[in-house]
Amino acid sequence: MAENIIVLHDLRAPALAVPAAPEAPVGIISDALARPLHDLRISVTDRCNFRCVYCMPKEVFGKDYPYLPHGDLLSFEEITRVARLFVAHGVEKIRLTGGEPLLRKNLEHLVAMLRALPTPSGRPLDLTLTTNGSLLVRKAQALKDAGLDRVTVSLDALDDAVFKRMNDVDFAVGDVLAGIDAAHAAGLGPVKVNMVVKRGSNDDQIVPMARHFKGSPTTLRFIEYMDVGASNGWNMDEVVPSSEVVRRIDAELPLAPQAANYTGETAARWRYVDGGGEVGVISSVTGAFCKDCSRMRLSTEGKLYTCLFATRGHDLRALLRSGHDDLDIGAAIARLWQGRTDRYSETRTMNTARVDTGARKVEMSYIGG
Ligand code: SF4
Repeated sequence: MAENIIVLHDLRAPALAVPAAPEAPVGIISDALARPLHDLRISVTDRCNFRCVYCMPKEVFGKDYPYLPHGDLLSFEEITRVARLFVAHGVEKIRLTGGEPLLRKNLEHLVAMLRALPTPSGRPLDLTLTTNGSLLVRKAQALKDAGLDRVTVSLDALDDAVFKRMNDVDFAVGDVLAGIDAAHAAGLGPVKVNMVVKRGSNDDQIVPMARHFKGSPTTLRFIEYMDVGASNGWNMDEVVPSSEVVRRIDAELPLAPQAANYTGETAARWRYVDGGGEVGVISSVTGAFCKDCSRMRLSTEGKLYTCLFATRGHDLRALLRSGHDDLDIGAAIARLWQGRTDRYSETRTMNTARVDTGARKVEMSYIGG
């Protein structure tokens, strides 16, 4: 392995602690800031076929990068067992992520296993997936047939040259747009498209993207460029605040604010005054939404993270593979959540964003966005 490769797998995660007197799940649990556990994001692979500059820059994730061996990944059976324990604690929404989740072979089998999970409320699980869209044309129908509800597709530009600069693997816009069409055709809607905006890289695409998706069944959301992980060289100067994104669109396509769909929705909604649908803005940097954050993250090798900007995970796989029963593991999950105090985006400063503070943040490609 080349000496300049930084292994970004989380090697520091202690085993998840099992309480001395484990108790059976009692339904919805809240963390130390009274936030209920509602969403579980499951990363099913640390691999991706894109090298988006704000997530998996090529300089770090080069051709010699040592991805996790398959045996280290949680199996579909292990993932489903963990999901079942989270559902018993009130989780009603599961999002499959990566890396690029559609690179995990036979992912539709996992979708079918998760779809079969009953919830305490009797309501069906909300089963979603975030993808770069590169494999959607091939996979959309099989995912829908297996029980997936909907997809969110990442697309950072409409202009091919800009998009290729952002994904850094020469992948064309047209193929992602074809994937979005395939998702609609398969019934994986409402389809959302996420665009990460980086000043000086693709901010000239804000209005063209808005024009393209306006009046279509696809909802476009703009995400502020974030200081995730330790490898994207983040700088506040390259952040385009959501207020500026809205202002730029409004100048050409008048917008009005729209109420949230539910508590904890990360996107602030804006509707086109002329009835042409809506756009969303996700403002992790300038408008933190930690107060309603109800998300836990599971990495592809079975570590739990209580925040996207966490500097340490908790090894659940060690419990899964050492014979602990569901009571133990369920209680360990509950204890981790009940002790949670994360609110990184609310406390972020230029100092916390810097990587040289020693507390290296986990990579987004490792735990999903
Ligand atoms: S910074 Fe952490 S706590 Fe805040 S919204 Fe994001 S994931 Fe949740």
